[in-house]
Amino acid sequence: MKLLEERIRRDGIVKEGNVLKVDSFLNHQMDTTLFNEMGKEWARLFKDAPINKILTIEASGIGIACIAAQHFGVPVVFAKKSQSINLDGEMYAAQIESFTHKKVYNVIVSQKFLGPDDHVLIIDDFLANGCAVMGLIEIIKEAGATLEGVGIAVEKGFQKGGRELRDMGVRVESLAIVDGMDASTGSITFRPQQVR
Ligand code: 5GP
Repeated sequence: MKLLEERIRRDGIVKEGNVLKVDSFLNHQMDTTLFNEMGKEWARLFKDAPINKILTIEASGIGIACIAAQHFGVPVVFAKKSQSINLDGEMYAAQIESFTHKKVYNVIVSQKFLGPDDHVLIIDDFLANGCAVMGLIEIIKEAGATLEGVGIAVEKGFQKGGRELRDMGVRVESLAIVDGMDASTGSITFRPQQVR
C-alpha cells in the first residue's frame, strides 16, 4: 500500500536489532486517517471471506483493528496479556515470545467471545518472527473457530514469520513488506507489491 510505504519512508526510524520505530503514526501517536485507509484496503482484499470477528493483541493492534472493524461491520476481540494462565477453563490461553521485549508472556481470550461459529481475521501492527500471530492462531484453534486470514500493517520480510505462515497455507495480507533496512544509513527497502 503506497500510502503506508511513503509514511514509513518519511517518518519511520530504523533502530539497531532490526526494529523499525513508527511511534509517530502507528505505535504511540496514531494517524487514524491512515488507519482508515488501511482498514479499507484489508476490507477490499478480504471481501470474499465470511469474516464475523477480528482478533488482535494488546496494545498496538487494538487501534488499527478497531478502525479496520468498521469496514467489516464486525466486533474486535483483543487477546490480553496476563501474568498467570487462568486455569478455571473460562479462558483460551497461549504463550507468546515478544520480539521487541525479548520475554515470554501469556495471552488470554475469554471463551465468551470466541467459539466454533466464528470466522476470524487476525490483525496486528507488525509481523516479525510470527510468535504473536502463531499464538493467536493457537487460540483460534482452541476455540474451534475458523481462521480466514491475517492482516498486517508492516511485515519484516527478512524475518521468518510471513514465510512460515504462508507455508502453513495461511492467507497473509501485509500492507507494506520491508525486505531490508539499515540502521547506520536509515535506508528501508520495500518488496514491490502486486496490484490486485
Ligand atoms: P513477532 O511475534 O512476529 O516476532 O513480532 C510481532 C510483534 O512484535 C508485533 O506485535 C509488534 O508489536 C512487535 N514488533 C516486532 N518487530 C517490530 C518492529 O520492528 N517495530 C515495532 N514497532 N514493533 C515490532
